[in-house]
Amino acid sequence: MSETKNEIPQVIQEITQDQIRQQNQETTLKILNQNSEIKKMINTISENHQLNNFEDKSNIPIPFSLIERNKTDIFLQSQIVTEYQKLVKQINSPKLAFEYPFILVGHQQTDPDGYQYIVFNELVHTQKDATILEKNEVEHDPNKIRQALKKGDVIALGHTHPYLTDKETSNYFTNKINPDIKDEYHIKRIGLNLSLQDIYNGIQLKRGLPNKNVYSCLIMYNGEIGLIDHNQNSITKANNIIGVTEKEIINIPSPN
Ligand SMILES: [Zn+2]
Repeated sequence: MSETKNEIPQVIQEITQDQIRQQNQETTLKILNQNSEIKKMINTISENHQLNNFEDKSNIPIPFSLIERNKTDIFLQSQIVTEYQKLVKQINSPKLAFEYPFILVGHQQTDPDGYQYIVFNELVHTQKDATILEKNEVEHDPNKIRQALKKGDVIALGHTHPYLTDKETSNYFTNKINPDIKDEYHIKRIGLNLSLQDIYNGIQLKRGLPNKNVYSCLIMYNGEIGLIDHNQNSITKANNIIGVTEKEIINIPSPN
């Protein structure tokens, strides 16, 4: 094959990828803007800090309290409960406090009486084999994600938010936001909010897998698990999160 022939498809592919990214960014803002409080908050923060493009806005914290709760209960089976407990320990230990990537896989269930719920049965670690973990960003191994996707029709793209000291986070965007604005929108300490980027990643996955039931999952250093539903043209958070082990049934705290 001549060089030219090789080049053309590559250029087309790059343009397409760029267009997809732009579309997903627009969709993310459209979905977030449907929530009037979140819209007001993003506009205020963007204006105050002159955040003009999506990249800059992606660091804006999105408080869980502004996201409506839906009616779906989520059950986490034993292996996930064990991994969750391990991760919470790790992200509270200074040497291991990183953002760990993972994916939850499971199935939608319906009882004879019509009660619908989701059972996640496995947490798959999706960290690249030779990667350096970061404290404020996360990277998944696409091959591990692809393998995990085969295991269920419901998936939750997840990562941890570690405990970081005030000194470690002194340069983080959330700490630059005016305290009055933080109070007004219930923006919590770093690690206890979603970020606009987190929402984007979930929306991007849903758009790539329209036939899957797609969630985002956040395991936070305070032990809370946040699960965000991306299957409607809005975002909502899951109802109860219940851990089911051989010995017990645990109510897992989730952010209000
Ligand atoms: Zn995050």
